[in-house]
Amino acid sequence: MKKRELAALNFQEHEGALQCTICHSEMTVMDSKSLVCEKGHSFDLAKQGYVNMLQKQVSTMYDHTLFDARKRIIYDYKFYDKVHQKISKIIDEALQEGGLVFDAGSGEGTHLNAIFNHLDKDSIHGIGLDISKDGIVMAAKNYSDLNWLVGDLTQTPFKEHSQDIILSFLSPANYSEFKRIMKPNGLLIKIIPGSHYLKEIREHLSDEDKEYENTDTVNLMRNKVDVISEERVTYEREVDEEVLRDILTMTPLTWHISESQIESILKNHHEIITVDLHIILAKF
Ligand SMILES: [Zn+2]
Repeated sequence: MKKRELAALNFQEHEGALQCTICHSEMTVMDSKSLVCEKGHSFDLAKQGYVNMLQKQVSTMYDHTLFDARKRIIYDYKFYDKVHQKISKIIDEALQEGGLVFDAGSGEGTHLNAIFNHLDKDSIHGIGLDISKDGIVMAAKNYSDLNWLVGDLTQTPFKEHSQDIILSFLSPANYSEFKRIMKPNGLLIKIIPGSHYLKEIREHLSDEDKEYENTDTVNLMRNKVDVISEERVTYEREVDEEVLRDILTMTPLTWHISESQIESILKNHHEIITVDLHIILAKF
């Protein structure tokens, strides 16, 4: 089956969750070619199998080089595998009867795909959304069992109370929009960095031995949602220069530093990189 037809079938099965981003009316899949609302606004299914819901294209810091590096680190190198396994377990337990998982800020989709690869249940479906078209094109090409949307997190193409689980993996959250689209008993899974996340790189970038603090993120979150549990996952991974280069490419930590600083980090031969993430579960 072609990617566009497969994506159309998957969208069709979950079209009850969708709404038009222009007029907010219901949408249906038309002839495996587009999502069309009751008032006739139409969004085409691209041949790669994604739908672009943006009225105006946005340019971001995220490009092919970054997404390729992310994919190698997440998919090939399985840098976050322990975290993915834990999230899959949480999803399997929460969605015994099946349901929808929305990845808010999915990028090139590798996290969501890795999490779905660990799931036991087939009755759970995933939809990823990102503002970067480059990322979503890549996601649709690589992971066609899931649905992919180019869109804006402040205005997602979902109906009120349509999502069972919202995943926000090292990605900015829009809590008011999450609250609007979340089902009454729905679960927010938020992954945020711990103080030792990539600490070997942070230490190199900062003169002072400054520890990263996630207090602001957690406090903001506590004001918006009911946190029901928090688990810290910390482990070390061995890296070679190639892997380290990819990590440096994908992390926003290094976006504002020079090529020579990057080279100096690489020359420093960090053989260990720390992963330190908090898996926070919350309800609205
Ligand atoms: Zn419309």
